[in-house]
Amino acid sequence: MLDSIMHVLLVEDDPVLADGIARILRGHGMVVDMVNNGHDADRVLSSREVSVVVLDIGLPGIDGFEVVRRLRARGSALPVLLLTARDDIQDRVRGLEIGADDYLVKPFAAPELVARLKALVRRGNPRSADLQMGGLLLDPLSRRATVNGQVVDLSAREWAVLEYLIRNASRVVSKQQIIDAILPWGEEMTLNAVEVYVSRIRAKIMSAGVSINTIRGFGYMLEPVAIT
Ligand code: CA
Repeated sequence: MLDSIMHVLLVEDDPVLADGIARILRGHGMVVDMVNNGHDADRVLSSREVSVVVLDIGLPGIDGFEVVRRLRARGSALPVLLLTARDDIQDRVRGLEIGADDYLVKPFAAPELVARLKALVRRGNPRSADLQMGGLLLDPLSRRATVNGQVVDLSAREWAVLEYLIRNASRVVSKQQIIDAILPWGEEMTLNAVEVYVSRIRAKIMSAGVSINTIRGFGYMLEPVAIT
């Protein structure tokens, strides 16, 4: 991926700043699409593939926060760098809470912007690659799971448990590790609830050629089913 071309969506309503940023990024070999308001950003992000978004917070129409919120609500893990007009801690905290990955305070140095974008794309990619075992395929970007090509209907929690298990395939994971990995900070889940999710997932992926083995008194291990 590092060798492929980075495609940037730049969302900035200040035309001088937008042109300046676009020139810098193009100078580093990136492809840059520009929009100058939140509605256009939302529309482009719903319909087109880009590698990363550079997003101003203060925009006409819907603001940058709302653009990120909608993007994450669609299940997208696309890396987002927020541009904030001032060094406002509230804005930064809110942006990161909503699901932005990083931020830069204007004015910023061009090399810093380029370095941050490259780091975001590098960091984002390993997690966005498809996860596969046997006939089971998980696409973390769309949060869609298929078994032998058929879409499987999973709840958000079931998806999170299954994603954790497949990322740790052929390793024993405890129920507590699953809870710690999938639960937002401050929420609680019982070990029994994990068992319920796992049994529902098992029923849904039965024909995938993978099994979630119970390690008695401890947890689970996702493994391919041996062909006999
Ligand atoms: Ca602005």
